[in-house]
Amino acid sequence: MISHDTPLKVIYIDHSIAYRIGNTIYINKDLFKYPKFAKKVLKHETEHTGKFTKHDFYIDVRDGNLWDNLKFIVRHPKALRQVIPFGKAEGVWYYDLTYIIQYIILIILITLLIFCARL
Ligand SMILES: [Zn+2]
Repeated sequence: MISHDTPLKVIYIDHSIAYRIGNTIYINKDLFKYPKFAKKVLKHETEHTGKFTKHDFYIDVRDGNLWDNLKFIVRHPKALRQVIPFGKAEGVWYYDLTYIIQYIILIILITLLIFCARL
C-alpha cells in the first residue's frame, strides 16, 4: 500500500524519460547529462502522487515540456519508449492514463479534422 510516509525510491533506467509508479521514480540515467532538465523532471515526478488523480493530470498538462522531451528523444532514441503508455517495470504491468487520455483526445481531433475536410 502506498503511503505518504514511505520515502521515494529512485531507479535509474536506460529507456523512456521518467515516470512514477507508487513511490518509485524511474528516470533515464542519460537525463543527468542535462542537469537543468533532470532537475525539472525530478521535481515534476516528485509532485506526482504515484496514482492517477486530477492533480496528476493537472501537473502533466502544466509541466508538459514537448520541446525538451523531443530534443532528448532525438539524442537518446530509447527515450521514445516514454510515449508507449503501458509496459512492465520490475515484473509489474503499468499504464499511463495521462498519455492514454491525450491519445484519445488526439484521435478525436484528427477524426474531426478529417470529417470536416470532407464536407
Ligand atoms: Zn507527469
